Amino acid sequence: MEQENLENEQETILDETPQEVGFEDLGLAPEILEAVKAAGYETPSPIQAKAIPALLQGKNLLGTAQTGTGKTAAFALPLLSRIEFNGKDTSLLVLTPTRELSIQVAEAIQQYAMKLPKVHVVPVYGGQDIAVQFKALKRAANVIVATPGRLIDHLKRGSIVLDKVQAVVLDEADEMLDMGFMEDVETILSKIPKNAQRALFSATMPKEVIEIIDEHLGEYSEARIEGKTTTVENIRQRFLLVKSHDKMEALARVIEGEDFDGMLIFVRTKQATSEVSERLEARGFNVAPLSGDLAQTLRERTINRLKMGKLDIVVATDVAARGIDVDRITHVVNYDIPYDTESYVHRIGRTGRAGRSGNAILFITPRERRLLKTIEKATRQPIEAMALPSAEQISAKRVANFQKKIQDKLANASLDKFREILMKMTVELGTNVEDIAAAALCMAQEREPLFPKMEQLSTPKVRDNSDRDDMPEKPRKERKEGANGVEEGYLRYYLAVGRRDHVSPRDIVGAIAGEADISSAIIGRIKLFDKFSTVELPDNTDQSVLDILSEMTIRGNDAKFRLMTDDAPPPKERKSFKSKKDFGKKPKGKEKPFREFHGDKPFRKTRRFGRH
Ligand code: AMP
Repeated sequence: MEQENLENEQETILDETPQEVGFEDLGLAPEILEAVKAAGYETPSPIQAKAIPALLQGKNLLGTAQTGTGKTAAFALPLLSRIEFNGKDTSLLVLTPTRELSIQVAEAIQQYAMKLPKVHVVPVYGGQDIAVQFKALKRAANVIVATPGRLIDHLKRGSIVLDKVQAVVLDEADEMLDMGFMEDVETILSKIPKNAQRALFSATMPKEVIEIIDEHLGEYSEARIEGKTTTVENIRQRFLLVKSHDKMEALARVIEGEDFDGMLIFVRTKQATSEVSERLEARGFNVAPLSGDLAQTLRERTINRLKMGKLDIVVATDVAARGIDVDRITHVVNYDIPYDTESYVHRIGRTGRAGRSGNAILFITPRERRLLKTIEKATRQPIEAMALPSAEQISAKRVANFQKKIQDKLANASLDKFREILMKMTVELGTNVEDIAAAALCMAQEREPLFPKMEQLSTPKVRDNSDRDDMPEKPRKERKEGANGVEEGYLRYYLAVGRRDHVSPRDIVGAIAGEADISSAIIGRIKLFDKFSTVELPDNTDQSVLDILSEMTIRGNDAKFRLMTDDAPPPKERKSFKSKKDFGKKPKGKEKPFREFHGDKPFRKTRRFGRH
């Protein structure tokens, strides 16, 4: 499509969307509204308020949004409302860059489709036994959420047919590009019926993504969230990188580690307000939930109790916390990340009131890293990384609290009877007051141990492309080679695909990083030969990752990924590989590697810096 036509035809839905729009105002099907209600969503996120009406009208859509903004529901709710499912054909196709995302998106869509009997959602991704997928696809696959490589595989085998697709969504297009999937995406899009509705979501718009938009999106509306710049003074902002399943444990430790007066914890759904609040209560915190579900009087009472110091912690949704003005709030914790900068600024504005200084702590899961960068840009303030308090720090705080309680008792309670018992015990037990006090202390701390054993929470791994817009390139690490030509600390693996399969190093990095969801930065050198290639991976790579990779396909070919067990690099010492037959015919003796590089730098350069 010509650029000028495109500019005329596209309609931009910007920030004029009213803030107070509710899900019921958007025109969604009643079954979908029911599912939204069951999910506990109170109001549409900004990208949802903008994207849903356009998609419901059957328009194509370009969404500029990143993970954490609610973009899955932004496309799934209207498309599920609109598409006529017949229980047989594949009517909706969603392409995602990673297997993790395809599982997550498939689960979300299945949840939104819970009241639609004819909708069965199947995630399709590399790394899973293809026979398992055949079975699931045979039963019914009305919605397919796929990574491009594996989808191409199924298309070749005829196990997926796309000619009845009514809508296609390209999720995280810029990540697809980084994973080297663009050609596969082109191939797939060319097989989708011309009249199918199309939506593309991307956090950034590199040149290659714009080319896909020009080529495949046709006329489209645009939904984007404009990051307004705002400053937040007198609030110390920190973030904690944490895996989703560790969030609760991390929250409890943060609460214990911080010196706070009142604390407001933000979550996304009404259910989460009660869940988080109940779990904190079980750990002994003085906490209550606050959501739109509670009657106005009860909400007011909760806020009053917080004001008066009868309550220390409130767990709230955005809607319920609107307008809370309690000077005592020294801490705002964003347990679930807000959808956009504006709501972040609004949330943290609940602390640091009346000229006091406040604290804002933001929980970030690895996939949400980009949203962190967006917030930093828009608030023009860096958000410091914070570490979880250690067991020793928590122990010191508990001991100090305990001592404070004892001090209060000494000052206020009448202890004569207890002294009498103590004296009697020293005689009867033949011991001293010190030992008895130590035993009593030991008993008194049983529910909340003074020396807690705390499991180390794992540090989340972050894919290196998640911070690509803002971070300076990492300097290339000095890598030392061992005597066998393999880099120290690395092992060399074989892949049964080479130049003749039109495989590029980028395909290999993309497939490995995408299938196993590991950072491309840890991938070592890649050597490409005519009929096969080799890749070096750290020698401490998890067996679970290697298992996934052993099932990997690259450009539709079984990669037959396996460890090369001998010392020398191919092709010279090829004969001494453990199993000769693994390698097919012997490559010509003087065959030279096509290209050799480390996984990170040239990969990033050609993709990101060299070409746009
Ligand atoms: P996404 O950006 O699609 O990855 O969504 C991020 C998270 O937000 C998911 O856990 C969704 O369940 C949740 N979510 C999406 N829309 C809403 C909404 N309107 N209200 C509350 N939570 C939402």
